[in-house]
Amino acid sequence: MGTYAVTGSASGMGAAVVGRLVADGHTVIGVDIEEADVVADLSTPDGRHTAAAAVLERAGGVLDGAVLAAGLGPAPGPDRARLIAEVNHLGIVELLDAWRPALAAAERAKVVVFSSNATTTMPMVPRRAVRALLERDVPKALGSLRRFGRMAPTFAYGASKIAVTEWVRRAAVTPEWAGAGIRLNAIAPGAIRTPLLEQQLATPAEAKRIRAFPVPIGGFGDPDQLAAWVVLMLSDAADFLCGSVVFVDGGSDAWFRAGDWPRAVPALRLRGYLRRMKEFRAQRRVGARA
Ligand code: NAD
Repeated sequence: MGTYAVTGSASGMGAAVVGRLVADGHTVIGVDIEEADVVADLSTPDGRHTAAAAVLERAGGVLDGAVLAAGLGPAPGPDRARLIAEVNHLGIVELLDAWRPALAAAERAKVVVFSSNATTTMPMVPRRAVRALLERDVPKALGSLRRFGRMAPTFAYGASKIAVTEWVRRAAVTPEWAGAGIRLNAIAPGAIRTPLLEQQLATPAEAKRIRAFPVPIGGFGDPDQLAAWVVLMLSDAADFLCGSVVFVDGGSDAWFRAGDWPRAVPALRLRGYLRRMKEFRAQRRVGARA
């Protein structure tokens, strides 16, 4: 039986994951802003630091896995864009930076980060905001979102999910993660019936927009179904899963983006592709010498 850290453990999909892990006999350290083993506000640097340290202490320095499900949806509000950037991006990458040695110590650890199908289905998310988040510069990201006015939280949400997913894919394949035996992957849900979605459905205009959004199989997803995917991604079945983004969204991503991926590397990008081949060989040589 393992020890798992789960953020966003008090509600929705995080709570559903906790339920399944506990039922399977694992030890879970839940992190949330209230009603959790570790109570911390992930929208502040202090809160993230406290959460990271308290989990490590409770786990005794070894974590078999982590699920990063704490997050805010794209609801309107004055400080909302900043909160989204802090919780949805820094609330994941800073915690994982701190937990990486404890995950490596478990030797076959698995990490699942909550992304969203907003990463591929939300148009016009500014690349500058994504880049700023990858640089962990929230004020700069907010600066590039200012022109969206009241809609800034929506684009902050899209940018936070793209940034954290890109971070997962870049980090997952490095010696620090893959090389340390840690499998780092993301899950990208569509609209799932959780308190986060209910909050959006409570606003008539938002509800109309959400219900009009193309979902080929129709309706909303169930949190427990998503939790089942997460538990699979924490299991031995995920030993060969690395840097993947698993879309569980009723077909919306396929509806909009069927032709975008998979796609062969175009001739114009061949140089970059060959450079990555070379870098991989160099990395392997360094690994062999170490
Ligand atoms: P939820 O609101 O039910 O749960 C999110 C949890 O995060 C809550 O328990 C909340 O207290 C916690 N949280 C929020 N701000 C926090 C903070 N500052 N500090 C600590 N904890 C904080 O939402 P959910 O739908 O279960 O969402 C889980 C994840 O899935 C989120 O990252 C969300 O963005 C993502 N997601 C949800 C949907 C959906 O339709 N529900 C779709 C795509 C992605």
